[in-house]
This record gives sequence, structure tokens and C-alpha cells, in this order.
Amino acid sequence: MDNREKEIRDQICEVGRRVWLKGWVASNDGNISMKLDDRFIITTPTGVSKGFMSPDMLVKIDMDGNVREGYMRPSSESKIHIEAYRQRDDIGSVLHAHPPVCTGYAVANIPLDFLTLPEIIISLGSIPLAEYGTPSTTELSDSIQELVKCHDALLLANHGAMTLGKDVMQAYYKMESVEHFAAISLTAHQLGGMKPISTPNVKKLEDIREHFGIKIGGSACLNCGDCTDTESCEMSTKAEYEDIITEITTKIMKELENQ
Ligand SMILES: [Zn+2]
Repeated sequence: MDNREKEIRDQICEVGRRVWLKGWVASNDGNISMKLDDRFIITTPTGVSKGFMSPDMLVKIDMDGNVREGYMRPSSESKIHIEAYRQRDDIGSVLHAHPPVCTGYAVANIPLDFLTLPEIIISLGSIPLAEYGTPSTTELSDSIQELVKCHDALLLANHGAMTLGKDVMQAYYKMESVEHFAAISLTAHQLGGMKPISTPNVKKLEDIREHFGIKIGGSACLNCGDCTDTESCEMSTKAEYEDIITEITTKIMKELENQ
């Protein structure tokens, strides 16, 4: 085993401990993986607490999910990790857990796409909700297929959350942000409701995203602040329509003036 593989195994165990200490998993829940290279992935085993893993317990699998090395069975959720790696060349690690607050949003089927915190708008954009799929089946990997293309953090309906990063620590920090955001959103909700950041101010945050070259995360909608896709937003078509009407009206008014 080379130094890189040893380092990856150590990092996965360290993140497993943190995830367990944070209370983001109960019993044997959750799974963590990292790409070793283009062919192999190091993943957590099934049936163990992620808080008590040793590097030798991790399993090396290939991109089709076959075990290549290890004495334990790989996580039953390896399919969603492999799907994420298939869709994104730029990510090297996937973390899946059930942090209680963001999983509460997932169970309530509410995506975390509120335009309320500058750090989240800049770093993650919106956190969408993937449709429910039976765990460990292809239903779940199918449900994330489209969303992982443009998001580093997703809620899985009635299940939990997943984050993607260049390495294990990055995926871990993103999960930390998701859970923190969910807790803050819930508190704001209990205090009478969230007040979204105004559209011109969201635009400034979008400019910062652009400056940092952050493309992933989509932009939360600039037209309504409710949906996550400015392009296909109903309000957007309405706004365009209104622009055309204004343009035509101005033209007619000018023509009338010239007569
Ligand atoms: Zn799960």
C-alpha cells in the first residue's frame, strides 16, 4: 500500500469518527468513500459504526462496485458514490450521513434552497431534494443522477444527505455547512420565519461566486427566490414578457409622438 492510500484510509477513519461524534449517524448508518485513482475507490464497510473503524477495515472496490481488496463487505450505498464519481470528474470524495436537522428537512421533503445566508449562497448555492429511492437499490442512484451534476450537497428525501468534495475533509466540511444551515433555518422558522436576502444583494453574492469560479450549486433563483433555476423560473418568463410589453409600448408611444 502506498502512502497516498494509507493517507486516504486514515482520513476516512478520522472523518468517520467525527461524523459519529457529531451525532450525524446512529448505529451503522452512513458511508464515506474516496477515489484512489480513476479505477479504484476506498470505501467504508457495511455493518460497522463509522466511529470505530480502523484503516484495514476499509474496502477497495472498482468503478463497477466489485470488491478488489478487503475482508469486509463494502457499504450497501456504494452505488450512489459510484454514480457521483461517474457524473463528476472534479470530485474525489463522497460522504453520506443522516444529520438530524437536515434529515428532518429531507423527511419533510423541503429542499434547503433558501436565499438567507451569504456563506451558503456563495459556497453551496442551493441544496436540492433528490426523490425518494429505496436504499441500496439503483432507485437511489437514479434519483441523484441529474442533481449531482450541478450540486455538491443534496438532501435525499426521507433518508439523509450527501456531500461531494475534492477530498474527504472537503466533503466533511460541506456536510458540516449543510447541517449548520439546516439548524439555523429551523431556528429562524421557529422565530417567525426566514427573511430572504434581497435580489440585488443576492446578485452581488452571485458575482462573488463567479469571481471565485464556483460554478457548482446552481444559483438559487434570482427572480422569485423560491425555486432554484433562474432560467426556467415562471417568474422569469413573466419578467421577459413584461420587458417585451414595455419595449412595444415605448415604440408605439414614440411613433404616436412623431405623427
Ligand atoms: Zn443512509
